[in-house]
Amino acid sequence: MKCTRCKVRAEVHLRQHNAGFCRACFIFYMQRQVERAIDKERMFSKEEPILVAVSGGKDSLALWDILIELGYRTTGLHLSLGIGDYSDASTRKTVDFTAARGLSLITVPLTDEGLAVPTVTGFTNRPACSACGTLKRHYFDRLAVDRGFPVVATGHNLDDEAARLMGNVLHWQMDHLARQQPVLEPTHERFVRKVKPLYRISEYESAVYAFFRGIDYIVDECPNSVGATQLLYKDMLNRLEAASPGSKLTFVQDFFRKGRAAFVREETAPPQTCERCGMPSFGALCSFCKLVREVETKRERRRSAAVVGGHS
Ligand code: AMP
Ligand code: ZN
Repeated sequence: MKCTRCKVRAEVHLRQHNAGFCRACFIFYMQRQVERAIDKERMFSKEEPILVAVSGGKDSLALWDILIELGYRTTGLHLSLGIGDYSDASTRKTVDFTAARGLSLITVPLTDEGLAVPTVTGFTNRPACSACGTLKRHYFDRLAVDRGFPVVATGHNLDDEAARLMGNVLHWQMDHLARQQPVLEPTHERFVRKVKPLYRISEYESAVYAFFRGIDYIVDECPNSVGATQLLYKDMLNRLEAASPGSKLTFVQDFFRKGRAAFVREETAPPQTCERCGMPSFGALCSFCKLVREVETKRERRRSAAVVGGHS
C-alpha cells in the first residue's frame, strides 16, 4: 500500500479511514486530527494554559507531545498512585519524558498524603478502580483550580470512549450517558473544563504515534485493571472492528453527534459545595472527602484496637 498523502510506501494502514501513511505523514495526520478535534469541539485556545494529566502511558504522553508540537501552553500533572512497581515505573517514565524535553510537571505523591490506592482500598473495601477514579478526579480538579488552569486534558482515546459507552448502554446509565462527552463544561466555580482531545484516536494509532516519535512509555496495564469489565468491552469491540472497520468510530462519534442529546435532562441540579474541602459535591461531603473520612475512621479504629490488644 502507498501513503495516501505522498505516495511512498505506507508503514501504517488505517482500515477505519481506508488510508495508509508513511512515518512522516502519519505523524502529520495525527497532529492534524487532534488539532481538528480541539477546534471543532472548542476545547481550548492557544492562549489558555492547559493542565495535561499524564500517567506515563502511551496515550497521555502522545497527547502531551502533540499539544507541544501544535504550539499549546501546557503543564503536566502526574499522580503517583502508590500501586507498587507499576506506579513507580509510571512516575519514572513521566519524569524522564518531562526532563528530556525541559517541560514543567506537577507531581502529587498520594503516598505522602496517606492516600496510596492500596491503603485506601485496604481501609474501605471499595473496588480499587472506583477509589482510584475518585482520587484522580479530585486532584485533577483541585490542582487545576488552585493553580489557575481553566482546562484539564486527559489522554482518553477512542477505545476508552467506546468501552465506556458500551458499559453505559448495557446498564442504561442515563446520567452517565448524559455526561459522556469530549468536552465537559464546569458546573461549579471550583470545576474546570475537562477535555479529551484523543477521543477520535484509536489505541493502535496512539501506540504507533508514540513509537514513531520515540516516546518511552509504560506498556504494562495497571495490575488492578486485570479482569476489569472495561477490558472485556474493549476486546468485544475489537472483534467487531476487525469484522467491520470503522464501527468504533461510528459508535462513539454518532453518540456524541446524535445520541447523547436524548439523555440530557434540563432539570439536573448543579452541585453544592463540600463543607470539608470546598470542592463541588452532591450532598454535604464530596465523594473524595467521604472516602478520606472513611479511611481516617477505619485507621483510627484499627489503631485503637491495636493499642487495646497491646495492653491485654
Ligand atoms: P485511565 O483512567 O488509566 O484509563 O487513564 C485515562 C487518562 O487519565 C490518562 O490518559 C491520563 O490522562 C489520566 N491519568 C491516568 N492515570 C493518571 C495518573 N496517575 N496521573 C495523572 N493522570 C492520569
Ligand atoms: Zn470535599
